Amino acid sequence: MSFNNIFNKLGISSFKGRLRFWFLCFMALMVLLAAIPFVLLEKQQKREDANVSIEKMIDLQQVVIDYWLKERISDVKSISELPTVKALDLEKMKEAFEAFDKNHSEFGSILYLNEDGITEIDTLSPTGIDLSDREYFKEAKKGNSFITGVLIGRQTHSPIIIFSNPIYDSNGNFKGLIAGQVPLLTITDVMAQFQDEASETYLIDRSGMLITESRQGEVGEYIESTIYKEALAENPITNFYHAQNGERVLGDYRWVHNNQWLIIGEITESKIFEPFYRMALMFSLVILLAVLIGYTLMVWVSNQAEAPIRKVLEGTRKIGERKFHYRLDKNEKDAIEFQELFDNFNHMNEIIEGYIITLEESEEKFRTIVNYSSDMITIHNSAGKYLYVSPAAKEILQYKDEDIIGYDSYHFIHPDDLKMIEANHDALLKDGYVVSTYRIRKKDGEYIWFESSIKSIQGKTPEETQLIVISRNITERKTVEQKLQEANKVLQELSTKDGLTGIWNRRTFDERLELEWNRALRNSSSLSLVMLDIDYFKKFNDTYGHQGGDDCLIEVASMIELTANETGGMAFRYGGEEFSVILPATNLAEAELLAESIRRAVENLKISYAGSLISECVTISLGVNTMIPTKEQTPEQLILEADKSLYQAKQDGRNCVRSNVSLNSKPN
Ligand code: GH3
Ligand code: MG
Ligand code: MG
Repeated sequence: MSFNNIFNKLGISSFKGRLRFWFLCFMALMVLLAAIPFVLLEKQQKREDANVSIEKMIDLQQVVIDYWLKERISDVKSISELPTVKALDLEKMKEAFEAFDKNHSEFGSILYLNEDGITEIDTLSPTGIDLSDREYFKEAKKGNSFITGVLIGRQTHSPIIIFSNPIYDSNGNFKGLIAGQVPLLTITDVMAQFQDEASETYLIDRSGMLITESRQGEVGEYIESTIYKEALAENPITNFYHAQNGERVLGDYRWVHNNQWLIIGEITESKIFEPFYRMALMFSLVILLAVLIGYTLMVWVSNQAEAPIRKVLEGTRKIGERKFHYRLDKNEKDAIEFQELFDNFNHMNEIIEGYIITLEESEEKFRTIVNYSSDMITIHNSAGKYLYVSPAAKEILQYKDEDIIGYDSYHFIHPDDLKMIEANHDALLKDGYVVSTYRIRKKDGEYIWFESSIKSIQGKTPEETQLIVISRNITERKTVEQKLQEANKVLQELSTKDGLTGIWNRRTFDERLELEWNRALRNSSSLSLVMLDIDYFKKFNDTYGHQGGDDCLIEVASMIELTANETGGMAFRYGGEEFSVILPATNLAEAELLAESIRRAVENLKISYAGSLISECVTISLGVNTMIPTKEQTPEQLILEADKSLYQAKQDGRNCVRSNVSLNSKPN
């Protein structure tokens, strides 16, 4: 799981939140790192400390007990050494005993047993009691002082210990013993100095009976706890266990008084760990304080960082709202990185503002141009669909946006112009620029003439091509042009000269032939006509192009005219590449001669003609006819016969002259 997932789950999205999260993680880690050794080592330390203190307590206790036992024995011994005792002066002994008893509170009573074991002095009880069966008496007889186990006093019925020492007279004869009864309370008092509510030492004897009073029970009660059993088996104590009173304790033991007594020292677990828990509490408080201070500091730091970030955020929001004039206030208190960030932000905004203003101005200019231009501006995608139509275009074509935007431009073009537009489109794709003249349909169905400059430009992406089209309504110009063309035609009809070659035209030929025909009719003179035609001219055009053909026509025509004029003939362009020469008052022979000279003259022009089947240059075929007109005849007959001759010349291999004398013609 990534941290982003954790943040999402916890709903922490802000920088500040994340900073705080990290801080808390860091603090938790620190606390853990500090607490683990503390808990592990400190707890162990406390336990070891407890062991040591129990040990010390027991040592001390042992010393005290040893000392106490020794003291009591020496007390009893000192009584036995008294001269009155040595002298067995019972009266004085009794006095001394009572005085001793008074001064030594440890002793409950002092007794004197005679050599038979009968009590003769007892500071507390009636005398005459036989105690000869007692162990201490038997030991005394052997000359030993003795300390009994815990006994229950006959009178007091409370536990006592008896300290005894034998008495010998000056001759060394056994004279009985001195016994001091010590109630166990006195040792309890001593032990009590080492006791508090959580730790204590107490004494038990081998049978487990409590010798000193303790929290475990009254003197005389029996202990059955773990430590007693372990002590009997001489096992070391390593763990916490339950003491007699049920408390969980750590303890140790020591056998003393010739393994008769057991000193047990115990400390409750709660007591051992109390300082630890107190320390842990202190530690926790300090940590808590540190966390609080740290957190406050971190909040302060994060606020320091957050405030400028929020400022920049606000700035970017303003840019989003197109408020480019917005500037961030620099605060001297902010970190220098933030101050620099603000400077950069403001600088960036200045640049954007400047750029936007320039852009808006140029856009405004563009909009003004487009809006007020009489030229129509349209933008198309590469397939020709309308993407944008300027107001002028909408006004002229009368379409609204929804009538035209998204539609194919071919949809609006005159069907007769579609082929040309498609061809132009190919040229546009090739060259990137084309000018087309075509008709476009207005909303009312009427077609108007457009001249459009079309340029392909790169669109928003390099793959996307757009076409920017600037169109002009040229309907008026077209109308004028058409009228001009018609006028030209009329003019052409009215003129006498051929537009291309400059020699007389067909109209003039017709008029002139009529004129000469009538004149010849009147005068009964012969009239000759030469019809001539350029050989294989169609192929010439195919080889040299129409313009080449025209140039050839001009050259040939002027040569025909020149040659014809020399002999008084008149040359005409009859049509296409056919010419005619009218020769008034000319007989056939003369006409044939002239025809031949024209043929030669044209040949001599040497207009090279690679494709000719008969020569290397342009040649002509000529047909001659001569008539003396009669009333029954028409000029058309003259033409017809000349044409026949021309046909004959073509038949005979071209580049030659053929003639045909009309039946009614006769030489002049
Ligand atoms: P031939 O007369 O030898 O039988 O062959 P031809 O190729 O000349 O035959 P035809 O008379 O059929 O062809 C005449 C050609 O002359 C047809 C046309 O293309 C061409 N022509 C007619 N008028 C003009 C013109 O004003 N300029 C040009 N360049 N060519 C013309
Ligand atoms: Mg022809
Ligand atoms: Mg021809």
